[in-house]
Amino acid sequence: MSQELSSDTVTVTGMQRTEASGPADPLEPVSFPGLYHWPPQPLAALQWLGSVLFPWGLIYIGLAVLTWIFLTPAMDRMADLSIDWIFLLWLRNACILAMVAGGLHWWLYVKRGQGDRYKIDSRWPRPGRQYLGGRQTLDNMFWSLISGVTFWTFYESLTFWYYASGRIDIVTWAESPVYLMVMCLAVFFWSTTHFYFIHRLMHLPSLFRHTHALHHRNLNPIPWSGISMHPYEHAVYFTLYLLWWVVPVHPVIIILTGFFQTLSPAVSHSGFRWISLGRWGKMPAGDLFHHLHHRQFDVNYGNITTPIDYLAGTWHDGSPAAHARFAKPGRRR
Ligand SMILES: [Zn+2]
Ligand SMILES: [Zn+2]
Repeated sequence: MSQELSSDTVTVTGMQRTEASGPADPLEPVSFPGLYHWPPQPLAALQWLGSVLFPWGLIYIGLAVLTWIFLTPAMDRMADLSIDWIFLLWLRNACILAMVAGGLHWWLYVKRGQGDRYKIDSRWPRPGRQYLGGRQTLDNMFWSLISGVTFWTFYESLTFWYYASGRIDIVTWAESPVYLMVMCLAVFFWSTTHFYFIHRLMHLPSLFRHTHALHHRNLNPIPWSGISMHPYEHAVYFTLYLLWWVVPVHPVIIILTGFFQTLSPAVSHSGFRWISLGRWGKMPAGDLFHHLHHRQFDVNYGNITTPIDYLAGTWHDGSPAAHARFAKPGRRR
């Protein structure tokens, strides 16, 4: 079995490309965010902002607040770079990622708690020699925990140290509550804008071949695929923290930045459009927009939150019209 990947063409031999791979349930095409409608539609914009916050945005914010209060070393301690508190941060981050990605994986793939209901791709993960140890889950866990959490902790620790040592002032909630609330929201827009540009960079043929191809092994992503990346890609992926070296914020925002950059990919790569909550309804999960990127490689480099793909002509909403538009002979679908 061999694997050959480039940004223009994809050939993955040894993987079943012809079997049914469509959604287990019909999927609604991705809709264009109300915030960017023209002429402006305030109601649609507010509704869409609500969908960014509810439920996942608020879950990440709540988790960041709890983590700051209960699971972060005191700022005095972080004023000096020291391996003991940095290791504690690494352990904390590894446990939280394992809780979210591992929890989703256990429910959706091990226990198969909702069967194939809302599954984006009807195939289930299968062993393959392109993965470390021949298993997608093992491979994805390795790259996420060993490289991903390490780079995440590296950048987060440096940012905490920068604040704790007085190199930049901490903004407090008492003095600037509105500013910090805006900054909470800004995390979602900053992260997705930053992601578009570094991801576009990763699709330059040479960078793709040596780094980003590792993430694209996951043609059919699972929760652990979210930050399963090559260390070179992690080194660039977490540079978004550098914004907080020049724009002062509160440590909760620093923690939120890490959570949105690591936990939200676990949800968006879950492979299920919705998580069924039984008689309580359902909550959004897998991101069809990004799933299409894993299938077609040269569409949807960014996220819906900052729709730069729309301007760049690479916006694929999953509709039959978009499939027809982006179809090329011999191209992966
Ligand atoms: Zn991905
Ligand atoms: Zn990509």
